[in-house]
Amino acid sequence: MPRLPLLLLLLLWDVGSLGFPAGTSETQERDVEMVQKYLENYYNLKNDGKKIVKQKNQSLVVEKLKEMQKFFGLKVTGMPDADTLNVMQQARCGVPDVAEYVLMEGNPRWDRTHLTYRIENYTPDLPRAEVDDAIEKAFKLWSDVSPLTFTKVFEGQADIMISFVRGDHRDNSPFDGPGGTLAHAFQPGPYIGGDAHFDEDERWTNDFKDFNLYRVAAHEFGHSLGLAHSTDIGALMYPNYQYSDDVQLSQDDIDGIQALYGPSSNPVPPTGPQTPQPCDSKLTFDAITTIRGELMFFKDRFYMRVIPRYPQVEQNFISLFWPNLPTGLQAAYEVTERDEVRFFKGDKYWAAQGQDMLYGYPRDIHRSFGFPRAVRSIDAAVSDEQTGKTYFFVANQYWRYDEYKQSMDPGYPKMIAADFPGIGNKVDAVFQKDGFFYFFHGTRQYKFDPTTKRILSLDKANSWFNCRNY
Ligand SMILES: [Zn+2]
Ligand SMILES: [Zn+2]
Repeated sequence: MPRLPLLLLLLLWDVGSLGFPAGTSETQERDVEMVQKYLENYYNLKNDGKKIVKQKNQSLVVEKLKEMQKFFGLKVTGMPDADTLNVMQQARCGVPDVAEYVLMEGNPRWDRTHLTYRIENYTPDLPRAEVDDAIEKAFKLWSDVSPLTFTKVFEGQADIMISFVRGDHRDNSPFDGPGGTLAHAFQPGPYIGGDAHFDEDERWTNDFKDFNLYRVAAHEFGHSLGLAHSTDIGALMYPNYQYSDDVQLSQDDIDGIQALYGPSSNPVPPTGPQTPQPCDSKLTFDAITTIRGELMFFKDRFYMRVIPRYPQVEQNFISLFWPNLPTGLQAAYEVTERDEVRFFKGDKYWAAQGQDMLYGYPRDIHRSFGFPRAVRSIDAAVSDEQTGKTYFFVANQYWRYDEYKQSMDPGYPKMIAADFPGIGNKVDAVFQKDGFFYFFHGTRQYKFDPTTKRILSLDKANSWFNCRNY
């Protein structure tokens, strides 16, 4: 494809979609500045004092944009499209995603495993004890999976000096006020090496509100120990801030720190959760549902969202979309009539309208739907739009529930194999689209016609993710 000059590309920016304000010239001007700053800060775009629209070397900007898009798993267009702008607006770590100097390549690491840290000053946002606790817990994440130990000192020079500072704090990497860059840390080395700075213009918290200090510290200390940013969205070393209740190292983080310092002395090798890869042909699902014309696939801590006419599957933490939902969901279905989605885990279920969780949940599946006590969890569920009948799949049987009467239909459970021939004895996930049921078991997917009770096609479970186009 011939490259368009950037000035023209800027005019083509699709700033109207995905929650962006209408593309007035003012917002476009702001976006141009944001893109320039972002690429300078995190992708080593050289600032020659000119705006990128006026820069001679437009192809450099396109290359940097492509680099950024590749890092975040976005469609690599070299254009600042809506998705790209969206990612650029997220709060994140101030350390660049690409090595700024050739010297940073190779693996900077401490030449010893017993390290010291010192908290130079405290944020007024939290009680001191909470800050101490967050910092200690953040170090523990790393010491638990490596030979590293961390000792707190109260005076003099420690390996890792921790401070809360704002604006220009004389290390050539000024902070930017609330939002944007939250913190940064320096790779292992003498003096400023290993030090971690937290932007005092942020509000630091010990819960889910902006911004959880433990979560950010855990990430920054990864840099203090020599780790770079990871493209794995489930990793703590992913550059953008995302909070979920269980701050933990992913397998990617553990592999990273052990590559630098060797395995932990723990007789049981510590492991962390792997991030599901949408295009992994071995991918299986916990639950799937339609939601307002989109498809939501659930796996462990993550959702994968398929938006019509949109080439890229969106993957992120379930807790970003629905903060109150547990991970490892087992079933989910949409009642289109009520614009409601229900999520199941164990004998509990939750309900949401769009992104809004409904009050009064979780509720008990026995009391609400009339399941016998022997049913401890639901494997899969789908509600037939036309009839208002909801099918619950449990082991090799299924129940049918009437959404209008709000009661279980008599005569159930029945055998799955008898009424859904060909799909096997167990269902992991199911949804309805255009009148057809799509059943998932393992890596397989069955398209089923409920009228003729026949399987129409057999496919890979992740066939909705358009993987060949990546
Ligand atoms: Zn970082
Ligand atoms: Zn700093």
